Amino acid sequence: MWTGVVAHLNEPEPPEPERGGAVNRYLLAIVEVALAGPCGVTTRTRLRCRRRPGRRACEGALLVRRHEVPAEVQWGCPLCRDHGRIRGFVPKAKPKAAALMGG
Ligand SMILES: [Zn+2]
Repeated sequence: MWTGVVAHLNEPEPPEPERGGAVNRYLLAIVEVALAGPCGVTTRTRLRCRRRPGRRACEGALLVRRHEVPAEVQWGCPLCRDHGRIRGFVPKAKPKAAALMGG
């Protein structure tokens, strides 16, 4: 389980090292998609799970669920059950609705 706080959303280059930066981008992508969707509803996204159980890339598509109070995004992979929650994000740009799956 990951509990992420996206603290550097408005900075062009996060100060984290390479690996942490990649994770931060992953969490940012999750937040971005979640913000495009409705509140309190679990939504399937096009974001691929990052886990590699047994050294094979997980093929799960992440599910996200956004809460307004407190502002929080919960996400999870239906295949490998990796999941986490993200807080501390600030919506910056217009969300990309195209990243959401239809239906
Ligand atoms: Zn997975």
